[in-house]
Amino acid sequence: MLTIGSHVSFNSNTQLLGSLEEALSYGANTFMFYTGAPQNTVRSKINSEITKKAIDMMIKKNIDYSKVIVHAPYIINLANNKEDDKYDFSIRFLKEEVKRCEELGIKYLVLHPGSHVGLGIDVGIDNIINALNIILKDTTVVILLETMAGKGTEIGSNFDEIKRIIDGLNNKENIGVCLDTCHLNDSGYDISNFDALLDEFDKIVGLSYVKCIHINDSKNPISSHKDRHENIGFGTLGFDNLIKIIYNPRLEKIPKILETPYVEDLPPYKYEIEMIRNKQFDSNLKSKIIH
Ligand code: FE
Ligand code: FE
Ligand code: ZN
Repeated sequence: MLTIGSHVSFNSNTQLLGSLEEALSYGANTFMFYTGAPQNTVRSKINSEITKKAIDMMIKKNIDYSKVIVHAPYIINLANNKEDDKYDFSIRFLKEEVKRCEELGIKYLVLHPGSHVGLGIDVGIDNIINALNIILKDTTVVILLETMAGKGTEIGSNFDEIKRIIDGLNNKENIGVCLDTCHLNDSGYDISNFDALLDEFDKIVGLSYVKCIHINDSKNPISSHKDRHENIGFGTLGFDNLIKIIYNPRLEKIPKILETPYVEDLPPYKYEIEMIRNKQFDSNLKSKIIH
């Protein structure tokens, strides 16, 4: 069965129930959310009653809650220890985020590995390893390192860097990887032969680490290091390539999450999910969303 959803909102009043209802309105059977605004540290208290209601509703709707994803806020940068207080803040805030996932019963937390901001890749990777070894000490949450586009000084834009991070961790039970199709393309991987890409990933890191895949088209050509997502079938990756990835039997059990851009302030996900289920590209999709 195809497990597909999108990024959805999470607000302090409706919390997990609101996120679930938004996902259901898109015809999704999974979803991903930030537990607060990704660019700030304001976080509301998790309401256990709402969480319970949402989980009951997921059971009724046949949604596998273990595949629902949280994305860590992108203000966290574990690679940069130029200033002690900023580095400590990132570790502390991610620790709190892991706790919030535990409270919500969430298993998978996607994390951008970090940017070394001029410290160099080696120092950056050491900083990430040091921080994750603190955070992963005892938790039920699995942190998924996202493969990055290689914008600026981002770490994790190739499989070797992902492998080096995992190699340094004491606890490998609680680490995994989230592939992102736009990022893979922008960092220089040819996604048109995804089986070859998966073979390479398997050889270097191990395919069993992959627990989530972000399905995005890209506005830019291969190796552009840009990280600008495009709607499914409207970018340089193209509909057929993305469909082949989504329905690749080796990724069957992996949740697929859309993070494509809104079209004139409207979410495209209901339309994109429908198009993916039909396996038929609709060049009028954007005008349908607006009307
Ligand atoms: Fe991300
Ligand atoms: Fe992503
Ligand atoms: Zn991105």
